[in-house]
Amino acid sequence: MKRIFFLFFSLVIGSPLLCGVLFAVLFVMFVGLTIPQIPSWAQAGVAAWMMDQPQETYDETAHTGPPGSPYNGHQIPYERADYTYTGNESFRCILPPQYGYLTDWYGTARDGGYVHSGIDYGCYWRAVPVYTPMGGKVVYAGWSEVGYGNLVIIESGNFRVFLAHNSEMIVQENDEVDAGDPIGLCGSTGNSTGPHVHFEVRIWNETEQRWTPVDPNAITLPGQEAHCDWYALKTGAPPNP
Ligand SMILES: [Zn+2]
Repeated sequence: MKRIFFLFFSLVIGSPLLCGVLFAVLFVMFVGLTIPQIPSWAQAGVAAWMMDQPQETYDETAHTGPPGSPYNGHQIPYERADYTYTGNESFRCILPPQYGYLTDWYGTARDGGYVHSGIDYGCYWRAVPVYTPMGGKVVYAGWSEVGYGNLVIIESGNFRVFLAHNSEMIVQENDEVDAGDPIGLCGSTGNSTGPHVHFEVRIWNETEQRWTPVDPNAITLPGQEAHCDWYALKTGAPPNP
């Protein structure tokens, strides 16, 4: 009887358990042996992908030049035409998704040892329009290879606004947009766990020669008459369209 029980235990319960452990060990070895062999610039992304970590992070490729120069997201380069913005820049505090709710703050810690570079607004799992809070020139409208999904970048002076994870984009590079214009539809493309808009502001840092993310709450965007409290705008019961 004891023997039968032992046999039963080892075959029916033991085998799947062993298989599971073996699989876990092999997977960890696979990840551990693969990552060091790929170029260093790709390691973080591959590690994040293999271990299913969020990849939304600094995009070093965006720090390629001063205002007016190309955003080099490994996509079609942006050729600068003589750029003079003449649109309406007087809008204030237009929220990226008009219907949405705050889901993450600027500066929160993320897996992988970096901080969140923007503010996230959930959009109730609906492809509601995404509005730009700043007028300017669309310097990028395309796929991001670093986790932003369908990404739209609008530039005005030394400011860039990133609106990420769109399901669709309705602007093209070189378009001129006004604050309050829709630029796409809310989505969950790229590294995202649910439909939301990642709203990020970067300022050209002349000393470091790169576009640096800043806390949107700490600055006043071009065209705004005063400071916007991006968090306060989303407190309380938001409308559910
Ligand atoms: Zn985000």
